[in-house]
Amino acid sequence: MTRSIRPIPLVALVLLGATAFNKAVNVDWATVAKIREEGLQHSQVMEYEAYIADVLGARLTMSNDMQRAQSWVQAEMKRIGLVNVAAEPYMDYGVTWDNEYVSLHLVAPDYQPMVGYPIAHTNSTNGKQIADAVIVDLQTHRDVEALRGTLRGKAVLVTPPPVIDLGPLTNGVPRYTQDQLEALERVTIVPARPVPARAIRNPDLLTAAEKITFYAAEGVAVVLQSESGWLGAVRGFSRPGSREDGWSRAGMLASPAIVAVTPEHYNRMYRILKRGLGVQVEVEVRNRIGAQVQKAVNLVGEIPGTDPRGEVVMLGAHLDTWHASPNASDNTSGVAVALEAMRILRAIGVRPKRTIRIGLWSGEEQGLYGSRAYVRAHFGDPRTGGAGVKPAYEKLSAYFNQDYGAGQYRGIYLQGNEQARAHLAAWMEPFRDLGMTAVSNQSVGSTDHIAFDEVGLPGFQFLQDRTPGTGGHTNLDFFDMIQAEDLMKNATIMASYVYHAAMSDERIPRKAPPRP
Ligand SMILES: [Zn+2]
Repeated sequence: MTRSIRPIPLVALVLLGATAFNKAVNVDWATVAKIREEGLQHSQVMEYEAYIADVLGARLTMSNDMQRAQSWVQAEMKRIGLVNVAAEPYMDYGVTWDNEYVSLHLVAPDYQPMVGYPIAHTNSTNGKQIADAVIVDLQTHRDVEALRGTLRGKAVLVTPPPVIDLGPLTNGVPRYTQDQLEALERVTIVPARPVPARAIRNPDLLTAAEKITFYAAEGVAVVLQSESGWLGAVRGFSRPGSREDGWSRAGMLASPAIVAVTPEHYNRMYRILKRGLGVQVEVEVRNRIGAQVQKAVNLVGEIPGTDPRGEVVMLGAHLDTWHASPNASDNTSGVAVALEAMRILRAIGVRPKRTIRIGLWSGEEQGLYGSRAYVRAHFGDPRTGGAGVKPAYEKLSAYFNQDYGAGQYRGIYLQGNEQARAHLAAWMEPFRDLGMTAVSNQSVGSTDHIAFDEVGLPGFQFLQDRTPGTGGHTNLDFFDMIQAEDLMKNATIMASYVYHAAMSDERIPRKAPPRP
């Protein structure tokens, strides 16, 4: 077994006389000891996790739920002693949407309560409805003509019955093996993929938004669907077309009530209907839809730096979630870790050279709206030409993000920034005993570090053990899935990384900025 690239110990550097490179990459072992003591012996991370997941709950961007959570988190940031705590508005987002009530039952040919969650940005039912269920296979404009006038007052089952994967129930708590971690450290050259020709949409097929418009025009009682392949799970997403209509009140009110049903309950109705027997459901959905378009906000707070150059190190996670569960892993866990990292640093009384700033984003689940708006407003974007870059662009050393579930850190992704290897590897040294060993050259995506990386600012995501269970975006992402030790380790490691980045003589090296 070959040991992959490791940081060169400082002793070896001195012996080699190689003082010219990496001399700035120090490990402050005394402070690491304090961080470890605070983070591993006096941890508050599970209290953050529990309060946010249990008491505050789901936090859909631009919802009353999210606004309540943002107020609590701001107060907590002040309580731990952060300064310049603020909610920064970044865009006219849309109106609020909150689910207040949902009740769904099979009432014939047998009684059974059913588990279902409304799709976000849809309307309520017209009070309590008892509706005959029908399977609808709506694909083309011809189907519209055949179905027109037949669906009034019906509960329409609009998706094919999902195939259920029993795997996630039996996987336990998956951990990376040493071999898997080393595979992630090996250089992989991914050949550039040819750009696929743009797909030409069959104009005869209806879009998802067109189908919804048809169901609304028909006056269905409710649209039922099931797209999750996991037993007991629904995915909590939003109505197709809601982004395009700017999360508008009119768009939400024009939608029928749409409920995602857990696959085993959906499939039971589907099988009975396929026998040619009748199915009746009782359903009531109440969604609260706001009256005014409001601005979405990101939360920030700081431990101020002492250095007159005014440089900054950032850490963060997205506070927003989908709405069908508290999303204890995605991304309550990232928020708990980032808050706890700040608490640890305050508790041990660090006086960092660079300002340490936490960013808790919103709009991530809809497409990184919050972090991208923040980066553009504060740092700028070289792709929009020289004038697009702000003075603060040169003052940010790095941004560290957590958003790959609640699994423990096993390493960090370089994000294609080979020059940052020396720093990121050296700062990992004090945590090898916690299982933090891998520096992967891979670039990873899908979350808020991309908002920094895409404009040429060092944005990093930790390499995490995969989240236990069914993960985020479902109705099943609860506190019970979270491993306390994992989050304690993560917050300790996060605190140490941002501390070292704040104290390092030089900024973390950057990739070449993207060209306009
Ligand atoms: Zn996430």
